[in-house]
Amino acid sequence: RIRESVIPASETGVTFDDIGALDDLKESIQELVMLPLQRPDLFNGGLLKPCRGILLFGPPGTGKTMLAKAVANEAGASFMNISMSTIVSKWYGESEKSIRALFSLAAKIAPAIIFVDEVDSMLGSRENSNENEASRRIKNEFMTHWDGLLSKSNERILVLAATNRPFDLDDAIIRRFEHRVMVGLPTLESRELIMKKLLSKEKVEDIDFKELAKMTEGYSGSDLKNLCVTAAYRPVRELLQKEKEKKKDKKEKEDKGKKAQAEKPKN
Ligand code: ATP
Repeated sequence: RIRESVIPASETGVTFDDIGALDDLKESIQELVMLPLQRPDLFNGGLLKPCRGILLFGPPGTGKTMLAKAVANEAGASFMNISMSTIVSKWYGESEKSIRALFSLAAKIAPAIIFVDEVDSMLGSRENSNENEASRRIKNEFMTHWDGLLSKSNERILVLAATNRPFDLDDAIIRRFEHRVMVGLPTLESRELIMKKLLSKEKVEDIDFKELAKMTEGYSGSDLKNLCVTAAYRPVRELLQKEKEKKKDKKEKEDKGKKAQAEKPKN
């Protein structure tokens, strides 16, 4: 499962250019990620320490996963897409084994980004009374390996995580993310840019993007994508309807012809 989670850098399918708006975020994350992964030699172990953890938090569908994939692509780093289901096993000790395998594979294929989606479900709060022994062990194992990275400035591995529920994270986990970046709902201007980006490869005319941006307050990037996809289906649906009607007309004409033929008096 750990091996299956690896996406080579060039195959994440997302580049910075595919992301509409979010320019400030792209820039700051790029800087935080690029140096530790590509130039570990610049970190001398003194004051300047490579960043080992970035938390992206914000409402669903705002582009956190997209950003993470794009950053891996740009940094030429393998992307390890990890979630609770990749790690957790019902068998005793197997989950910890998966975490060890995760960090050891990351070291082998470095530069690598370990991306933990919905990190709150895997590394959530210890104060939560429902927390069981198994999840405590998973968290401790993860933190141990993560701390191992902190002590080695030449290791080209970084933990990037995303959550919609940052307040559910364990304090010890939050502390390990040196940078926490909020990815919020897009502003009016950003909505316009995102829709332009989403439709940049489509043949569209006469779209008043400014007006559309005004009408979509509260929409996330993902909502805007759904809106564009739904709109893109309209001409397709119309075309299919026209084709269906043409076929029907043709069939009716053929049936009429056959009927007339059959009714023709034979001499
Ligand atoms: P979740 O918290 O639900 O996992 P997320 O914040 O990780 O969501 P993504 O999965 O990155 O969001 O975004 C969902 C989809 O929305 C993307 O695949 C993309 O198609 C679209 N999208 C979101 N933000 C943008 C953006 N800024 N530019 C272009 N497309 C976007």
